[in-house]
Amino acid sequence: MKLLEVLIERKANALNRPFSYIYNKEKPLEAGYRVLVNFAHKNIVGYVIKCEECGKSVEQLEEEMGFKIGEVIDVLDDKPLLNKELLDLSNEIASYYLSPLISVLQTMLPTSLKPASASLKGPKIAYDTYVKLIKDDETGLTPKQIELVRLLRSSGRILKKDCKSPSIVNKLYEKKIIDFEKEERTRLEIPEYKKEHKKDLTEEQQNAVDSILKTDKTVTLLQGVTGSGKTEVYLTLSEMVLAQGRNVLMLVPEISLTPVMVEYFQRRFSGDVAILHSDLTPAEKYDEYRRISRGDCHVVVGARSAIFAPLDNIGLIILDEEHTESYKQDSLPCYHAREVAIMRAKHFNSKVILGSATPSLETKARALKGVYHLASLPNRINKQELPKTTIVDMSKAYSFSRESSMFSKYLIEQLRNVLERKEQAILLINRRGHSGYITCRSCGHIIKCPNCGIALTYHRHDNMLKCHHCGHVELNVETCPECGSKYLSRSGFGTERIVDEVKKLFPSARVLRLDSDVGEVRNNIAKTVEAFSNQEADILVGTQMIAKGHDFPNVTLVGIVLADIGLSLPSFRSTERAFQLITQAVGRSGRASKVGQAIIQTFNPYHYAITLGSKQNYEAFFNKEMSVRKVAQYPPYTYLTSLEIIGKNEEMVVDIISKISRDISNQNFEDVSVLGPVEPFISYENNNYHRIILIKYKKYDKIQNYLREILESLKNKSQIKVKVNVDPYDF
Ligand code: ADP
Ligand code: ZN
Ligand code: ZN
Repeated sequence: MKLLEVLIERKANALNRPFSYIYNKEKPLEAGYRVLVNFAHKNIVGYVIKCEECGKSVEQLEEEMGFKIGEVIDVLDDKPLLNKELLDLSNEIASYYLSPLISVLQTMLPTSLKPASASLKGPKIAYDTYVKLIKDDETGLTPKQIELVRLLRSSGRILKKDCKSPSIVNKLYEKKIIDFEKEERTRLEIPEYKKEHKKDLTEEQQNAVDSILKTDKTVTLLQGVTGSGKTEVYLTLSEMVLAQGRNVLMLVPEISLTPVMVEYFQRRFSGDVAILHSDLTPAEKYDEYRRISRGDCHVVVGARSAIFAPLDNIGLIILDEEHTESYKQDSLPCYHAREVAIMRAKHFNSKVILGSATPSLETKARALKGVYHLASLPNRINKQELPKTTIVDMSKAYSFSRESSMFSKYLIEQLRNVLERKEQAILLINRRGHSGYITCRSCGHIIKCPNCGIALTYHRHDNMLKCHHCGHVELNVETCPECGSKYLSRSGFGTERIVDEVKKLFPSARVLRLDSDVGEVRNNIAKTVEAFSNQEADILVGTQMIAKGHDFPNVTLVGIVLADIGLSLPSFRSTERAFQLITQAVGRSGRASKVGQAIIQTFNPYHYAITLGSKQNYEAFFNKEMSVRKVAQYPPYTYLTSLEIIGKNEEMVVDIISKISRDISNQNFEDVSVLGPVEPFISYENNNYHRIILIKYKKYDKIQNYLREILESLKNKSQIKVKVNVDPYDF
């Protein structure tokens, strides 16, 4: 008999520990397999972390442990889900991010392989069935049957579904003339592109490649201005790594950017590329995951979670636009793909390339300190000039005309020029939907989300009100739910409203919208990007999604309709974000032979994020922002971990978190300070109260061990949830 420790799908804090089960059947079972067990009168899927022969009887065990031990109902796998490297990685992530191992496993594995009950209904392997000849003998066959036998003789094998008559196939099968052969089929179709040869590198690109090959540091920051040809550097290094027989993991910050990057890699390494991101169907993901595990492809392209691709023998991991916040997951485990990349690179002794025009302050600081190697591409390809930028002060009435309250006179004039020249323009507004919020002009009521209390955004295309935080949706209202007044006003504007404005001002212009609403229908994002690339539209209106990565050669004007949205967020990172967004957006303009321009509309025309962003002056911004961070003691000068307690009983939540805060302070750790407890940005959600503390420190090990003890001590408190975020992106 075997005694097991099994992790189960975690719902409550109290379940955050393994449970004991016994196993007494034939089928082999070891750690790393999934099993079906009964827990609280339900059959659920668990993950075995320990499996040992046990000489005792069930009665003896139950006597010793003092409770009844359940028996495994079924074994679900025939080999461990993760290989040694990935298993070690899951433990390392659980340990660094102070997260339950089960949550790490749930994140690492595709839906259908998760140790979760839902996986039982997940996709299964799809097969193609082929017909092949096993006895070449025509005696006694009908002419039709002989026809098929001869066809098979000349062509080897044929797909069963391609054979015209099933009855002939079945007859021949009965006569043991033919047999069936099953072969796994992948459901994702990755387009084939004409193979492309590599470009001659510019001197700058060549120097960057050489220095990356030479350095003995694991991580390189590849800092290159927008349009400097970073992709070509990625491709060149990938080619070298593949030639050594090692594999490449290429991460992009957003799903919308995968098709573009896949195309680059497919053109260069055709047939050798797999794709992993959350927009694949579970079946496609399952197939790709298995294709990668089997070693059938040597390049994986994908968004954040692709960092867990079961790729072996990795020689190079690339994170494009490394500063992007989407590389950080904000639910448990709150991992950052960059840190996971470094963990994996250490195992394989491989290189990590972090590419960006606007590296995160942390990464740049590490590169300047020599922790990372720094390679730079300071000029655009062909030495094109950076776009000319104009900052428009939105607080000045003279900037605007009667024509529009959203677009300044200058922006309208330049849009008109672009349309006349048959070029393209991008308009960026970092808010989706139509209007930011709806207020009642009679009683002042603001319509808010019932779950989390933040203002609902009006979406015109489906006439709904949506919460951009929790996803709550409700029907739009005609009258105020508080006082019944029908005088409601819509304030603030988002992508939909900008589209309306463009249509009003330029009725003949062709307009496309790109934001995550568009992404609700699968493949729509890729289609929109492609349509704009093919110049099927003149103006693209979108959120930050359009600011990143895309290379649209005919775009000569970028308008940032309101640059301030990011600046007002309550976070130490808000200025950095605003700067990055402006720089990236401005960089979309004038990338090919035509000179581009950018117009930035703002209420803060003298803010350094805006002035330096408009000039794409990263170095000056870095120096200025570093001094701000130093005074306020924020990263990269300190490290942060936040700890959040969530529960239905507000008093209990406050008590628990206050005690934790006091306990940490009382430890008198060197260079550790605690802020809070405070109410986080979303302080009440789905009838749960949230309170949070922020821990600042210089060295992680001591505080990490202490936090682990705290979490251990909270394990039996079933009425609360704990969320720890190590290196939170915002605070
Ligand atoms: P980045 O990612 O740094 O913003 P890209 O990699 O998109 O820049 O490159 C910008 C443009 O320059 C692309 O159209 C690309 O095809 C082109 N390009 C890159 N390297 C070269 C090269 N060595 N020779 C010619 N064109 C190049
Ligand atoms: Zn009202
Ligand atoms: Zn909400």
